[in-house]
Amino acid sequence: MSSDNSFGVVGAGTMGHGIAQVAAQAGFEVTLVDLSADALERAEQGIAKSLARLVAKERLTEEASAAARERIRTSQSLEDLAGCGLVVEAVVERENVKTQVLAELERICGDETILATNTSSISITRLAAATRCPERVIGMHFMNPVPVMKLVEIIRGLVTSQSTYDAVKATTERLGKIPVEVHDAPGFVSNRVLMPMINEAVFCLYEGVGEAEAIDSVMKLGMNHPLGPLALADLIGLDVCLDILRVLQDGFGDPKYRPCPLLVKMVDAGHLGRKSGRGFYDYSS
Ligand code: NAD
Repeated sequence: MSSDNSFGVVGAGTMGHGIAQVAAQAGFEVTLVDLSADALERAEQGIAKSLARLVAKERLTEEASAAARERIRTSQSLEDLAGCGLVVEAVVERENVKTQVLAELERICGDETILATNTSSISITRLAAATRCPERVIGMHFMNPVPVMKLVEIIRGLVTSQSTYDAVKATTERLGKIPVEVHDAPGFVSNRVLMPMINEAVFCLYEGVGEAEAIDSVMKLGMNHPLGPLALADLIGLDVCLDILRVLQDGFGDPKYRPCPLLVKMVDAGHLGRKSGRGFYDYSS
């Protein structure tokens, strides 16, 4: 039996833990699953820190913060998602991993569970086709950091049902977010526009047009961006940026999406941005 108030999240990384937090704050009973016990521990710490910040800023009471934490349980087994009304997968941006997770979820969850994917760029239609319930699969693309950013891009696959869309739109609003529907195309709208800009900023660094600070300052002071593109790439994760650029490059077959060799090298070196302590900037302290 699926329950309207249950909310599953698969993947407890940068995005998954933020999604779990906002769902718990909205009163859902959340089950957060990751293969890695370390990731789950980091997620719990991240959620506690983020809630504490909201309490310090008087945007949340101590009681509401404690109640939200109590509504989140963590698990290393997808089986614990049986019966969830909605599951959002936020595992790594690899099509083979996502299709495997979605197929498992279809087997485990009830016949009414909506399977949403937080993919940044991969075709919802293709991901849905990996299941036997493509009408219940939909893109629910949150922005980073999830507790702060208002937008959720909602993307239907070719056969996503109207009731799936309506339910996800309503849930998005219950989370205090603003749903914007876009069509299923590589990178949707957000990353089709954002990633070429980030990639171009990396090319500027690679070709010595400017230092990282200078490139970011130009975009902050000149274009009124709250964060420069290199600092934003560090926040997103350089591995995630590279994966998305590859989806754009493959999907459109256009060389303009070719990832900058410096981005590839940094990912190879394990310099993934904030989450690894080092990217275009140093976060070790
Ligand atoms: P991340 O690397 O921080 O976290 C991914 C997590 O998934 C890891 O904790 C990993 O252990 C877990 N995982 C991997 N395979 C798994 C499996 N089979 N079962 C359970 N857990 C598994 O990644 P992220 O930045 O949180 O990105 C997750 C998804 O969200 C990606 O599809 C990404 O494109 C998308 N996204 C990312 C951002 C961003 O700014 N980082 C923004 C919007 C959407």
